[in-house]
Amino acid sequence: MSTETHPPSVSLPLTNLLTLNEQELGQLVQQAGWPRYRTGQILRWLYQRRVRTIDQMTDLSQADRTRLTNTATIRRTTNCTVFRSSDRTRKLVLPLEDGLRVETVLIPDEDRLTLCVSTQVGCTLDCGFCLTGTMGLKRNLRPHEILEQVLTAQDHLDPDERITNVVFMGMGEPLANLECLSEAIRRLTNKTWGLGWSPRRITVSTAGLASRLKEVAPLGVNLAISLNATTEEQRASLMPAVHGIASLTTLLAACRRYALPPNRRLTFEYVLLAGVNDREEDARRLAKLIRGIACKVNLIPFNPFPGSLFQRPSDHHVLAFQSIVRQAGIDVFIRKSRGRDVLGACGQLGDIPRAPALTQIESRC
Ligand code: SAH
Repeated sequence: MSTETHPPSVSLPLTNLLTLNEQELGQLVQQAGWPRYRTGQILRWLYQRRVRTIDQMTDLSQADRTRLTNTATIRRTTNCTVFRSSDRTRKLVLPLEDGLRVETVLIPDEDRLTLCVSTQVGCTLDCGFCLTGTMGLKRNLRPHEILEQVLTAQDHLDPDERITNVVFMGMGEPLANLECLSEAIRRLTNKTWGLGWSPRRITVSTAGLASRLKEVAPLGVNLAISLNATTEEQRASLMPAVHGIASLTTLLAACRRYALPPNRRLTFEYVLLAGVNDREEDARRLAKLIRGIACKVNLIPFNPFPGSLFQRPSDHHVLAFQSIVRQAGIDVFIRKSRGRDVLGACGQLGDIPRAPALTQIESRC
């Protein structure tokens, strides 16, 4: 038997086109000697038509498609698992290339269909009432992994459905991954080749990284701040990591300085924990703290998860809290809990060591 040896063949890994931003794709197009407009053509195929293969880019000649296929590919998510809640909320679990998983939640409500998107696997922070916090930070999501959640959710919609809003309130702290988030938002809002959404349909929620708030303003999106406490002590005990970065006083000062576009307002989120921050004096302090800020308040009654230490207040308590804040002249809403039976509600995303039987698995796509 001959033992011929061949030099190892050097094949460069294929570039996933979804990992490139507009400028990087422009360089690839230039290196191939193609006209500039080809960049926009390719981007439109990726984001507006959501193709999964280069071969589907039918306004490129067959020869050009073959050439592109020699160096590049499109790697979209496969094997996404969908859990359907009895209230029609759907939680999509997307596997990432390194084996980690990320969760995104589609929430239908009257004439709205909101997608709740994750920005990290796990979370930088350790808020005591949030399941994601117990995972620690596994890693930041890259721009294409953030956007992939939107693309996959769109692929999964019924023919008469359309996503009306995107909220970055899934796993992770968006402002701890702001650069990648900003690039994902550019692709969502670009009208020439991107999804073309108005930034007004997008909300970024932060636990309170005060010094970064000002970097959100140029994106033109809505900003929500998870306040959750009305004294420094309360916030330090409920949200220790973020409190270590910025106190409640520093955070509220940053909110007052925030450059709100005309006719827009901030949203303050407030998780209601029975006997902890849901008392009358908390409601009064909350109203006082945010007085004079153009804002509305969303109250979120606590959503329990396996092993959680807090209780959800009674509806009576929630309404009493709302009415005190309202009497101070503040617009205050109670966020409906959606998707709790598939652990798809606020604060319920993450790895569950002793997962209850999630029997509502609807499909894999
Ligand atoms: N890290 C960001 C976004 C993710 S959390 C932030 O803190 O804003 C999205 C919202 O869910 C936040 O307002 C958070 O306070 C709230 N939340 C977290 N855990 C919750 C739980 N178990 N029940 C109800 N709301 C929760």
